[in-house]
Amino acid sequence: MLTGFVPTMGALHEGHLSLIRQARTDNDLVIVSIFVNPTQFGAGEDLDKYPRPLERDLDLCEAQGADIVFTPQPQDIYPSGYQTYVDPGSLAEGLCGASRPGHFRGVATVVLKLLNITVPTRAYFGMKDYQQLRIIQRMVEDLDMPTQIVPMPTVREKDGLAMSSRNAYLSAEERVAAPVLIRALRHAAQIWAHGQRDVETLKKAALEVIATEPLVRVDYVQALDPVTLRPELGPGTGLLLAGAIFIGKTRLIDNVVVNGDGAELPSAPAQ
Ligand code: AMP
Repeated sequence: MLTGFVPTMGALHEGHLSLIRQARTDNDLVIVSIFVNPTQFGAGEDLDKYPRPLERDLDLCEAQGADIVFTPQPQDIYPSGYQTYVDPGSLAEGLCGASRPGHFRGVATVVLKLLNITVPTRAYFGMKDYQQLRIIQRMVEDLDMPTQIVPMPTVREKDGLAMSSRNAYLSAEERVAAPVLIRALRHAAQIWAHGQRDVETLKKAALEVIATEPLVRVDYVQALDPVTLRPELGPGTGLLLAGAIFIGKTRLIDNVVVNGDGAELPSAPAQ
């Protein structure tokens, strides 16, 4: 029997639902988890205020055809005496790993545990969290885990803003400003498509677009190899343009992965 698994932190939106629907199409049994994982939140981050609309989420899972929704409590996953963590290595050092120390250690640990608990044939992860996807792909390979990781394209609002549970934090004015990140990344992708291969020039082009939006503070913008997440670009693997911004207190991330012609890829390139 084929089992598809979709790990989430809840506050489900169309991005999550697209993963559940794909799991439903591909598998006999579909398991969704809803767990706001405390070990991936740093001090001063939004663990306590993270939205938890459980009844609504359960209805949405049912409507997409999920068979099982796993909703553990923190003490179920990290009982008293818990002390084993996954160290995800250099893929976790840059990008969000630099801004959120320990974040990917928490992510890798909880995903390993959830995959061990559910033992799925396939697990579905969004490209929206591209660094997370690469770290999980690498972990599954490095630790000889039997699950196939299925990357899924980023689902966006009409104006390009990547769907995120954190978009709910934005005021009306901030919501109008938020798509500047994807506009900036796509602007740099255009310049890449015209043959520019200098990552600093590409970064600068994206930063100039973001600078036009006074409500936004940049956390990072990076132009990297999409496989290694390093600034040295490998031959033929395309380009990852990734950014994180603060709008007020809300931190949003987004990325595009483009091939040599600048076309956006719906999936991570082969390792
Ligand atoms: P989260 O609940 O934020 O931990 O996300 C759970 C899963 O949904 C992760 O694999 C995310 O990458 C994925 N996801 C979140 N937002 C989107 C989106 N806009 N499009 C596609 N996948 C998404």
